[in-house]
This record gives sequence, C-alpha cells and structure tokens, in this order.
Amino acid sequence: CGIVGYVSKAPVDNADHSALDVVLGGLKRLEYRGYDSAGVALVTPDGQLASAKKAGKFSALTEEIEANPLPAAQTGIGHTRWATHGGPTDLNAHPHLAHGGKLALIHNGIIENFAHLKKDLVAEGVEFLSETDTEVAAAQLAKNYKVTGDLTAAMRKTATELEGAFTLLAVHADAPGQVVAARRNSPLVIGLGEGENFLGSDVAAFIDYTRTAVEIGQDEVVTITPETVTITDTEGNSVEGEQFEVDWDT
Ligand code: GLU
Repeated sequence: CGIVGYVSKAPVDNADHSALDVVLGGLKRLEYRGYDSAGVALVTPDGQLASAKKAGKFSALTEEIEANPLPAAQTGIGHTRWATHGGPTDLNAHPHLAHGGKLALIHNGIIENFAHLKKDLVAEGVEFLSETDTEVAAAQLAKNYKVTGDLTAAMRKTATELEGAFTLLAVHADAPGQVVAARRNSPLVIGLGEGENFLGSDVAAFIDYTRTAVEIGQDEVVTITPETVTITDTEGNSVEGEQFEVDWDT
C-alpha cells in the first residue's frame, strides 16, 4: 500500500538520516492510505541484510525494532501492506526475502500470474513461507539475479515476466547503496537529494527531506544510489524522467 526507499552515503553527516529513520518517517507519512501490516529491510555498508515486519499497527513494528534492534544502515526500504493475497499476518507482511535471505522485496499491487510462476519455482525447489503473490515476485527476482548477477538487469527481466499491477522495490546484500524499483499500473516517484535519493509510492514518503521529484513512467525500472538515479525501460534503454517541484503545505 505505502512504499518508501532510501539510499545515502555512509557515514552520513546528519544523524537523522539513517535509513531506518527515513524509512519509518516516510511510512508514518503514508499511514493515511490505510494498512494492516508494516515492515522494513536494511542493507549495511558491509553487506548485511536485516529486516523486521509485523501485522497490526505501525507501533507493533517500532516495538519489534526496539526489542530487536536493526544494524546501522544507509540503504533501506519500507512497506505498509493492504492484504490482497494471504491474510494480515506477520509472515505475509512485507518485505519478502529470497536468495537465502540476501534479497528483500516489497510490493504494492497484485501479481496476476503468481500461481503459474509459483508452480514453476516450487518445481525448481524454491520454498515459500507466505501465501502472498509478492513472495513469488521476490523468488522470481532472485532467480533472475542468479543468472544476471545484477539487480537492475534482474528487475528488468522480472518486470517483463510479471502480469498485473505492481510497484516493486528491492535491495540485495551484495549491492549495498542501491535500491532497485519497477512499476506498472501502480504509482512510484523518485525524490532527489544531495548525497541521498528516495523512492516513494507518493511524494509524502520523502516530503520531509526533499521537494525535488522525478516521475517514473509505465513499465520503467529505476536504480537509485546516493549519487545517481538511472531510469530505463524494460529493455534497458535509458529514459529521461520528468523532474518537478512538489508543491506541499505542511
Ligand atoms: N498483493 C500484495 C499482498 O497481498 C500487496 C498488497 C499491497 O498493495 O499492500 O501482500
């Protein structure tokens, strides 16, 4: 339902700009959309992926993180879920992990061909922990990552294989300082910072940090790093995103 992604240089000068603070702050801003679960995934500069997710109120997630603190990180993604496939449980909450816990994915929307893809993945030996369509997208992305060795290339391939509506954001332990995203029939916008960049399902996700945003078109794939924003179509042709200033009264 709500999506936030963040990358910044490590170490950052401003202590408020830890990935966890920015991602939780963005999710809080997106609460108005409604949700039944929330979760985050972080990648540390030395390549550890850590995640937390909880069904229920946002405070259930923050209490979980207080009880089991996450490591300091400058790369992160966060999600609030509105369940469509699988009930609102901790296991069905996002992020969904794949590639032996090295890849984390969050998703807004519905993957219409998930049952078909899941059947093939199960036949290949993949085990699923949730009832969601999203976990199938995570496993498909991991499968493509193992072939391409590149998260952006894997996301392009995955986007062409999925049917339905999706905003997808993924991080990988082997690619600290990178968040990769794709969208079809579901919103996603980039926020531009200095030495940091943002992704959000709407501008509210990053409005506390930047007002400079970039539109992402249909069937486009985006990779953000602290210093770069790269947009392509699913074939890998580069796309010029349209930049705009967010008009917002707080
Ligand atoms: N279809 C996904 C699920 O049920 C994503 C729902 C959403 O957009 O939050 O987990």
